[in-house]
Amino acid sequence: MQSNRLEDVYISPSTLPWVPFSDGIRFRLLRVSPETGTWTVLFHCMPGSAFASHQHLGAGEYLMLKGKMEVRGGREAGGVTAFAGDYGYEPSGVVHEQTHFPEETEFYFTNFGPVAFLDDEGNTTSVLDWQVLASLAKG
Ligand code: ZN
Repeated sequence: MQSNRLEDVYISPSTLPWVPFSDGIRFRLLRVSPETGTWTVLFHCMPGSAFASHQHLGAGEYLMLKGKMEVRGGREAGGVTAFAGDYGYEPSGVVHEQTHFPEETEFYFTNFGPVAFLDDEGNTTSVLDWQVLASLAKG
C-alpha cells in the first residue's frame, strides 16, 4: 500500500561530499525543504575565512561543533563570539556585517528562508536560498 505519511530523514554527514561555498568555506547539504524554503547544512570554515555582509530573509539558528565564530566583530566589539557547544538564533531581517572564523570551525546551521548578500551600500548582490544550495551540491 502506498503511504502518504512523511518519511524520517536520516543522514550520516560523513558520507556527504564537502561542497565549495566561498574562499575557505565549504558545506555539506543535510536537507532542503521546497515547501518551506528551509535549508540545513554543516559549514566548515578555514582559519581567516569569513562570510560577506548579509541579511537573513528568514530566521536562522546554529549549533557550534568546533572552533570559533565572531559575529558583528565578536564579543569585544559588542557582537557575539560563539565557541563549540554554543547555540545561536538569528531573527529574520537581521543584518550581519562580515562574520569571521579565526580558527578552523564547523557548525550546524539551518535557515528558515533565503539569505541576501550585500555590498558596502547595503544593496543585494546575490540571494542564497535552498535552490542555490541544492544546485551547488549537485555540482
Ligand atoms: Zn548571519
